[in-house]
Amino acid sequence: MSAEQPATPMKLAVVGAGGRMGQTLIRLINETPGAVLAGAVERAGSPHIGRDAGEIAGVGTLGVEVTDDALGVFVGVEAVLDFTTPGATVEFSELAAQARIVHVIGTTGCSAEDDAKIHAAARHAVVIKSGNMSLGVNLLSVLVKQAAKALGSDDFDIEILEMHHKHKVDAPSGTALLLGEAAADGRDIGLGQHSVRVRDGHTGPREAGAIGFATLRGGSVVGDHSVILAGPGERITLSHHAEDRSIFARGAIKAALWGKGRKPGLYSMLDVLGLNP
Ligand code: NAP
Repeated sequence: MSAEQPATPMKLAVVGAGGRMGQTLIRLINETPGAVLAGAVERAGSPHIGRDAGEIAGVGTLGVEVTDDALGVFVGVEAVLDFTTPGATVEFSELAAQARIVHVIGTTGCSAEDDAKIHAAARHAVVIKSGNMSLGVNLLSVLVKQAAKALGSDDFDIEILEMHHKHKVDAPSGTALLLGEAAADGRDIGLGQHSVRVRDGHTGPREAGAIGFATLRGGSVVGDHSVILAGPGERITLSHHAEDRSIFARGAIKAALWGKGRKPGLYSMLDVLGLNP
């Protein structure tokens, strides 16, 4: 056993255990030294309730039964990994705060009101929230910030293009918004006041300083993102292509391990990866 590895593996729970990310997380936790699956939660009425989490994820029996009793699970684990829906995530954040555990949130599409509730829960829990848990996208966000800063809005227009599978329910993606925030940060402006999330009909010319979004949906695309900086006579494109959901799951597990023993508060993947200046 390496010196870095804790003697006792960290006990993790997965909520939304039957989902695309839930299943990937169960599989990856099972392969991660220093982590063990100790709980699996689905919504009340889900056909997965009562089944073995490992069977759902296709890794064989793990001896962890899927339940709808989230608090009952949270009091027996050290961290919960949450890729569900905004409504569910807000509820889980309150329960994670009660249980004083690490709450890793990958759920996207949260409203400002949802985020305020999650922020309040972070007074008692270690919350790590990011629209993208992969190393590549978080590094990309640092590069986007630098590029946006270096190439001013007088000359360069920023557009963000994303494509995801046809089942995705929110748009623009959490990752596109994360990259938009990075660009806005680089320009020292607020994304909310400068983003153009949809264009249709007679829109008039592009407003200087705007950060535009375009959304594509189809097939089984895991996640493609490009940030285009378009200037006079030249164009720079910074891109990331996710080929497999395991990059998000690995990031989420890394975040949970990183969060162990930290002070309650709201953290991001940039903190986990040491990419925050
Ligand atoms: P999904 O396949 O629909 O999985 C969501 C799961 O959550 C489903 O099994 C769903 O059950 C379950 N769920 C919903 N409400 C629940 C509740 N109250 N209690 C327990 N479980 C509940 O979706 P996905 O593709 O895995 O994505 C999930 C979220 O993660 C999305 O917001 C997506 O954008 C985000 N995501 C983030 C990253 C990142 O790196 N941050 C990466 C990938 C995806 P039912 O189907 O029975 O309702």
